[in-house]
Parts: sequence; structure tokens; C-alpha cells
Amino acid sequence: MDIQDGDLVRLARDGDPAAFRLNDEQAAIIASARELGQRVFAGRAAAYDRDAKFPTENYRDLHRSGLLGIAIPKKHGGLGADYQTYALAAAEIGRYCGATALTWNMHVCSTLWSGALADDLEMDATTRAEHERRRAVHYKRIVDDGAIYSQPFSEGGAAAAGGVAFGTEAKPVKGGWIVNGKKIFASLSGHADYYGVLCTEIAEGEKASRRNTLYLAVPAKADGVSVVGDWDPLGMRGTVSRTLLFKDVFVAEDAALMPRGVYFQAAMRWPHMFLTLSPTYMGLAQAAYDFTVRYLRGEAPGTPPVKRRMYPTKQIAVAQMQIKLEQIKAIWFQAITEARANPTKEQVLRAYAAQYSAMEGANELATLAIRTCGGQAMLKSLPLERIYRDSRCGSLMLPWTAELCLDRIGREALYETGETDD
Ligand SMILES: Cc1cc2nc3c(=O)[nH]c(=O)nc-3n(C[C@H](O)[C@H](O)[C@H](O)COP(=O)(O)OP(=O)(O)OC[C@H]3O[C@@H](n4cnc5c(N)ncnc54)[C@H](O)[C@@H]3O)c2cc1C
Repeated sequence: MDIQDGDLVRLARDGDPAAFRLNDEQAAIIASARELGQRVFAGRAAAYDRDAKFPTENYRDLHRSGLLGIAIPKKHGGLGADYQTYALAAAEIGRYCGATALTWNMHVCSTLWSGALADDLEMDATTRAEHERRRAVHYKRIVDDGAIYSQPFSEGGAAAAGGVAFGTEAKPVKGGWIVNGKKIFASLSGHADYYGVLCTEIAEGEKASRRNTLYLAVPAKADGVSVVGDWDPLGMRGTVSRTLLFKDVFVAEDAALMPRGVYFQAAMRWPHMFLTLSPTYMGLAQAAYDFTVRYLRGEAPGTPPVKRRMYPTKQIAVAQMQIKLEQIKAIWFQAITEARANPTKEQVLRAYAAQYSAMEGANELATLAIRTCGGQAMLKSLPLERIYRDSRCGSLMLPWTAELCLDRIGREALYETGETDD
């Protein structure tokens, strides 16, 4: 899709820094993500989708622009973006290539969780100093060499939803751990340099406990790591989310992205860590709306300049889309702005509601866009049908699937901690 300079100006209005009360530094980071998305990623997205191919070229550009290190603290050579800035930048990437935004999220989380989020958590001085030393190693690889990290935690059982300990096990040995296990739907399989694996540390004779979750960056080239299975899904095809196997993989101590016990503490005290998948879908929601407006104005690249905006039904549909988009954006912006340690119950319920709204809303907007624009608009030569398929996948993402968000909102709204009906 060709993007003209006039388009850049018009589309840029939607992320108006004044509307979101952003400072100049935040605005500059978000603008650079938008520019890369519009000028470069939008044109490549169709091929990654068609071939279910990982967006390697986009990752080179993310490295060159500094965005691979968006959440790495400045003292470690990154852009030092906070949670809110990252989320807004990721939504801009998602507007142009869903698969790039979703995989970029897995990568960025390894730096956000070990960075700003870990800084909010409790550690004694020795543990914090050790964490500082270790994370510097990971950050240097990303900033200097463009190393890519992924985040496989799904296993097909109850662990990814937070119910039980991860089945992937790390047995402590001299200088590190021996890791065994399997991860499904591991985005960036075969393309990440390090797999940020969530696993359970179990010494001989111990029982598995969620408290002993470790977050280890396993080198993709380590002996015993393999990628299996094919990948031919409905949407988010460029994520290449295949199955990862770990068979007696030795992982050195420095691979720890968080010290012992800190991931469990984060999951308990920093729940917005699981809201980071939503920006991609916020971007897709915006993309469905952007496409509809341009198409009805007769300005969508690759289509004849036929205007359809004069029909009252189209105008009503666009009005409904605009209202829905603004509703999603408002609750989502509020939730990403409230991300912090120890949020109130109201903030946590709002985060679930924001996740639900973005994940389900993106696909509702894409559905409306297809109905409104019509048959010619859903041809594979145009981005709308990809937006429709990609957006369908959002509500399946654990641990905050649409179903689990509903479960939690209902239960937590009606019961205080410890309350029962007995
Ligand atoms: C495009 C794509 C990319 C992905 N990338 C990654 C990745 O990089 N890393 C990663 O770890 N995972 C990734 N996932 C996996 C994703 O987060 C889920 O783990 C996966 O989709 C779950 O598969 P399932 O629906 O078969 O799971 P199931 O466990 O069979 O769950 C089915 C549904 O049941 C519900 N459910 C599950 N557990 C519970 C429970 N305890 N209580 C009540 N309801 C429950 C949920 O709503 C869930 O949607 C990706 C998925 C997709 C589609």
C-alpha cells in the first residue's frame, strides 16, 4: 500500500499528543513507531500474512530506529519508555501490521518486565544489584546486536491461565539449571535469539509451586532446543507461533530475566503486565476504522476513486464505528495509564474490561467495516480481510482471554477476597 505525505498528516491526527496529554519525548517515540508503520510495515504486511513468514526485515528496522530497545532504561542504552508510551507506540505498529506488533510485544515484555516493572517490586539490595548486572547483559545484546527475545509461556494446560505451576521444569544444577518441557503457540519460534521461558524451579524431591516460577532467556541455539509442528493459522500468520521443545537444556544463571520469586510477585502485584497484548488489537480496531473512512471517500490505495460516502446508511455505520472506537480507546487509555504496582480493585476490574473491549471490539469493528465497505473491499489485495482475521485472534490470548476476563469481572465484582456463600 502506498502512503502519501498528505495521508501521514491526516492519519497522524488520530494519535494527537495533546488529546492524550503526552510530553514531547513520549510523542516523539510514538510518532517514530507510527512513521515506521505507515511508511514501511504497511507495505510488507500482506506478504508476511500470505506466506505465514516472520517479519525479519521489520525487526531490522525496529533495531535501526531504536524501537527494539523501547522499554530498556536509558542508562542501558534504550529509549526508556514507560508502560503507557510503549502501549501507544505498539498500537501504532498494530495499525499497520498486526503480526509485527504482537511479536514485538513478546520481545518488549522481556525488557519491560525485567525493567520498569521489576523496579517497582520488592528485592533486597544484594538481589537487586545482581538483577541489575544480569539485565545489563540482556539489554546490551538487544541494543548493540539487535537480539530478539520471545515469551513462550502457554503449555496447553491450566498454567498459562495462572491456575497451576508451569509444567516446564528447571532443575537447579551447578552454574544454572537443566530445563525440560514444551511450549505451544510460541510466537517467534525459529526467529527469536532467546526464548523467555516461564518455568518452575524444582529441586529433587520438591513439589511444583507457582511461587517458584523462573523467567529464563534460553538461547535459541542451545543444545536440546527444537522447534516442531507446522504453522498455517487463520490470522496473525506472521507470528510463526509453533511448538518449542526443551530436552535437558542447560541454561546458565545469567539467563534469569527476573530473580527467584519475582515473577510470582509481579503476577500478584502488577496485574497490568498481562494487558500488554491489547495495544496490538487497539491498533487493529483503528485500522478497520481508518480503512472504512478512506474507502468510502474513494481514497483507499489500490481501489478506483469511487465515492460511497453520500449514502446515509454508510454515514450511520461510520458514526457507529467512531463511537465504538472512541469507547474502546477511552477505557483502554485509562487502563494503560493506571498500570502500576498494587492497583486498586477498581483499576484491576477496569484493566480486564479494557482488555475485553479491545480484543472483542477490534473484531466487531472489522466486521462492521466489511459489511459497510462491501464485497470489493474484502478482496485479498486490500488489508481489510487481514485485519478481520488478525483481530479474531485477540480474545484467545491467555492469561486474559475474553472468557477469563468475563469470569474474573463477574466473580471479583460480586465477591470480596475470602467471601463464600457457605
Ligand atoms: C496468534 C497467536 C499467538 C500466540 N503467541 C503466544 C506466545 O508468544 N506465547 C504464549 O505463551 N502464548 C501464545 N499464544 C497462545 C495463547 O496465549 C493461548 O495460550 C492459546 O491460544 C490457548 O490455546 P487454547 O485456546 O487451545 O487453550 P485452552 O487452554 O484449551 O483454552 C480454551 C479456552 O478456555 C478458556 N480457559 C482456559 N483456561 C481456563 C481456566 N482455567 N478457567 C476458565 N476458562 C479457561 C479460555 O477462554 C481459553 O480461550 C498465541 C496464540 C495465538 C492465537
